[in-house]
Amino acid sequence: MTEQGSLQAGNNLDPWYSHYAERAGGLRASEVRALFAVASRPEVVSLAGGMPFVAALPQDLVIGAMDTVMREQGAVALQYGSGQGVPELREQILEVMALEGITANADDVVVTTGSQHALELVSKLFLDPGDVVISEGPSYVTAMVIFKSYQAEVEHVPMDEHGLIPEALREHIARVKASGKTIKFLYTIPSFHNPAGVTLSWERRVEILQIAQENEILVLEDNPYGLLYFDRPAPDAIRSLDEDGVVYLGTFSKTLAPGFRVGWALAPHAIREKLVLANEAAVLSPSSFSQLVISEYLKTADWKGQINTFRGVYHERKNAMISALGEYLPELTWTNPNGGFYVWVTLPERLDSKAMLPRAVKELVAYTPGTAFFADGDGHQNMRLSFCYPTPENIRLGIRRLATVIRGELDL
Ligand code: PMP
Repeated sequence: MTEQGSLQAGNNLDPWYSHYAERAGGLRASEVRALFAVASRPEVVSLAGGMPFVAALPQDLVIGAMDTVMREQGAVALQYGSGQGVPELREQILEVMALEGITANADDVVVTTGSQHALELVSKLFLDPGDVVISEGPSYVTAMVIFKSYQAEVEHVPMDEHGLIPEALREHIARVKASGKTIKFLYTIPSFHNPAGVTLSWERRVEILQIAQENEILVLEDNPYGLLYFDRPAPDAIRSLDEDGVVYLGTFSKTLAPGFRVGWALAPHAIREKLVLANEAAVLSPSSFSQLVISEYLKTADWKGQINTFRGVYHERKNAMISALGEYLPELTWTNPNGGFYVWVTLPERLDSKAMLPRAVKELVAYTPGTAFFADGDGHQNMRLSFCYPTPENIRLGIRRLATVIRGELDL
């Protein structure tokens, strides 16, 4: 291991400091982690996390499904299962994806331990040190942690209110190619982006896929929020346009509950075979118990009605956040998402969201600084505000507190 690798991987107080693999260098606690521990105190309004509001899911529905599974299939539920996932659940996943225009074969679905693990498996299959992953800037922080742990470089392409900008994507691809590096995939969150809150228009989905195809770049479409729209559905998934060049990731974390840790990848046939082998090597099989309970829930409960309930809850909270921002912080700009969990805020130029966070926590409000979502240290002027978990009243309170902090910084 190189000196640089060992320095990145640990510190002198760790007796195993010089033993870590180089790839462990990317696994560092973020600078704001300690602050977030403070921010989890009940008196702090946290607009920082991305926790789904699972209290909106009636527990009886889950208890009923668990009960049936244990009575009727207890021995299967408690046993190891297929490395690809429970066949009946894979069929049901097709119905979920059909809501976003996807037609597929259950044989090409691989159930994973949340979509997070699908991100890990795809990265393991494709990324060598020095490879490039292109993603939106900003992008989902914990996907970038994975890409970096495989020693890939993340190249950001800017977005506007309609999502990733195709022209900018073309330019980036040309530039990376000219530098002699290999682009392994385009990682994109087209609907209700984490953290930007924007949605890629249909026209751009078509164009971006075409750019990827022309350049023989695989598209990794991460879509945890697509069904959580407010006024109108997001455009159909990119995967609805092409089954050969897209690996699509879905999850039950936001439409049901993250505690099950069940997500999936829908992949072109050859990639699917490798994904199953990688899944088996990593976890043997995803949780049989979780999969069977979800399968039973999908079979017997009004799961579409439940998704509607979640939409209503998050829509009300988003409205509370947008109206509080307009009332208390009109000097800022922000995205106004039509779904998902997040609002992306841009601060006046002389403010630095990371430097301001300790003062915000002192005022009993927390947010995630924009720098967390860029691989290149950009984002000082941005913050991500989550509206998924706090009540509308607490969201208003949090934004009022934030206004006090920002006014103080600006000397108003
Ligand atoms: N992708 C994105 C964009 C996310 O926001 C999240 C969760 N915050 C995930 C993937 C992972 O979700 P899970 O593993 O719970 O399916």
